[in-house]
Amino acid sequence: MARREVGDVLLEVQDLDVDYLTLNGAVRAVSDASFTLHRGEILGLAGESGSGKSTLTTALLRLQRDPAVTAGGTVLLHDGAGGVTDLVPRTDKELLHLRWDKLAIVMQSAMDALNPVKRLGAQFVDVLREHDPRMSAKEALQRAGDLLALSGIPRDRVDSFPHEMSGGMRQRSLISLALACDPELVVMDEPTTAVDVVMQRTIMSQVLRLQRELGFAIIFVTHDLSLLLELSDRLAIMYAGRIVEVGPSEELYRSPRHPYTRALRDSFPPLYAPLVEMHGIPGSAPDLLNLPAGCSFAPRCESAMAICHERRPELLQVAEQVDAACHLNTPQARVATVGAAAGTTEGEDA
Ligand code: SF4
Repeated sequence: MARREVGDVLLEVQDLDVDYLTLNGAVRAVSDASFTLHRGEILGLAGESGSGKSTLTTALLRLQRDPAVTAGGTVLLHDGAGGVTDLVPRTDKELLHLRWDKLAIVMQSAMDALNPVKRLGAQFVDVLREHDPRMSAKEALQRAGDLLALSGIPRDRVDSFPHEMSGGMRQRSLISLALACDPELVVMDEPTTAVDVVMQRTIMSQVLRLQRELGFAIIFVTHDLSLLLELSDRLAIMYAGRIVEVGPSEELYRSPRHPYTRALRDSFPPLYAPLVEMHGIPGSAPDLLNLPAGCSFAPRCESAMAICHERRPELLQVAEQVDAACHLNTPQARVATVGAAAGTTEGEDA
């Protein structure tokens, strides 16, 4: 389980909204996303498919393409010396050197992310020389070999085409490529979904080793909460485009304050405990064009109360370092729940 010293604030996301502009209207795929990431920290982003994880992470790097647009909010990048840059209003030209130099991303599918008709080394050389024009082609190729070796890939693979390598090797090459310009943050969007579990473990061990050696922060996206528990310092749980709970990984896993976090946890086998019966989450995620009134999770939530169908819960601090968006955590709800429980007992006694 990851436990590391983290530094000062690197990224501050405030009230970020992302829309997909469709013929049926704007679909809000990410709503009011707010969180902070520190230097050297690993933040796990979890949630079912369609919860907005990948939309959020691509929006952080301003990599979203039509019809996705950032509709509001700020993404503040701190330089560690008091300087702050809001990435949201920056043009592609302005972002050119922030990407790779400060922020990098490892996409889900290495085969789609790598150029299939270019040798691996040449793809590294392109990136390295674009960001440091003084670097000669020979130096860049040498550096490409060094970067591949970081991920345990033989240096002579610089001469290989992507199709000549295994899926695991391609994925590790992508991780090496993301580290080419020594970034401070690497977003990893389900980097192990296309490989088998043995390779998944190898890749995760290497990611953790590289993170320890180089000190970059990670936002790691997956639906697998058990994997994130092992890897990340903190977890952010997304449902229907919103962050519904965020806090230290162990705390969220042991004592989730949001019923969706609990349901997600109970639908995966525990990594370090005896296997228990697992439960799927009933129902399916809501249509983002027609979200239910109140809490989006209410139709699937076993703890739903009347207020849940009327008022959307805000993301509020509910414990030390833990924020959750659930009416169960408000004092009024606790009173109502206790009152209801007392009423039931009386009824049963009678
Ligand atoms: Fe369930 Fe209500 Fe909490 Fe939503 S606000 S997760 S419906 S208890």
